[in-house]
Amino acid sequence: RVAYVNGAYVPLSDASVSVEDRGFQFADGVYEVWSVFDGKLADYEGHMTRLARSLTELRIPIPMTRQSLTVVLKETIRRNRVREGIVYLQVTRGAARRDHPFPAPGTLPSVVATSRSVDFQKAEAMARKGVAVLTQPDIRWGRCDIKTVGLLPNVLAKQAAREAGAYEAWMVDELGLVTEGSSTNAWIIDKNGKVRTRDTQANILRGVTRAAILDLLAQEGLELEERPFTVDEAKEAKEAFFTAAGAFLMPTVSIDGVKIGDGKPGPVATKLRRLYLERAREEAI
Ligand code: PLP
Repeated sequence: RVAYVNGAYVPLSDASVSVEDRGFQFADGVYEVWSVFDGKLADYEGHMTRLARSLTELRIPIPMTRQSLTVVLKETIRRNRVREGIVYLQVTRGAARRDHPFPAPGTLPSVVATSRSVDFQKAEAMARKGVAVLTQPDIRWGRCDIKTVGLLPNVLAKQAAREAGAYEAWMVDELGLVTEGSSTNAWIIDKNGKVRTRDTQANILRGVTRAAILDLLAQEGLELEERPFTVDEAKEAKEAFFTAAGAFLMPTVSIDGVKIGDGKPGPVATKLRRLYLERAREEAI
């Protein structure tokens, strides 16, 4: 496998950045993940736009034009011979002597890209059965709208889920409301049949897959309420699921060991997953 690192394509086993990289020292960097279909980028525009926003919010210089970045992503996919999988891009504030304030102007951001194949067949089998979710307290900071590489609370939540035999963790605020998954956005079909997901005014990531699902809901005439839900509401929901690049839309069949609906993926989640995949494949570039 091959990685792109600051202007060169190198074998992944040799790919490295400085120990003084601010991504390593301070988690001072951002990232994006695209799904790859037939060697092409899914939801291209949404992820590119969010990347630019994350960089701007943190005042990290935009390292190269969108066109150049696209070439890097496509070349990383091509060199890794990925047909179906993901491509990962990380941009940090660069390497400088360790000191909290921003480094001197002119410090070059670090840009790293990797790509790997994912067995979407296997993911499909998982989606047909649905997965378990474990709730965890949301202990993150106040800017979860920025897609930073500072993911330690997310890592701890996901690990807790895996140790409990669940696949994803849903994080819960001090009011008992679900914020989002550790690496996904959280959704339910509530007992009134309304699709519910937390609004993005709140402190969560504006998921690109989330936005695509909102489009599909409108197209299908499904009733939506962008309003947070409690863990109890989720446990009483007709259906539950979560969304992210790579996971697409994953039906949730239990929360903290409580069965959701009849314990099988629901009809709405199943249909939305299919529609999302059809459209994402078709629109990949
Ligand atoms: N929420 C969090 C915390 C995430 O890390 C991610 C993806 O990595 C998402 C939501 C889903 O975002 P997207 O659909 O843009 O992949």
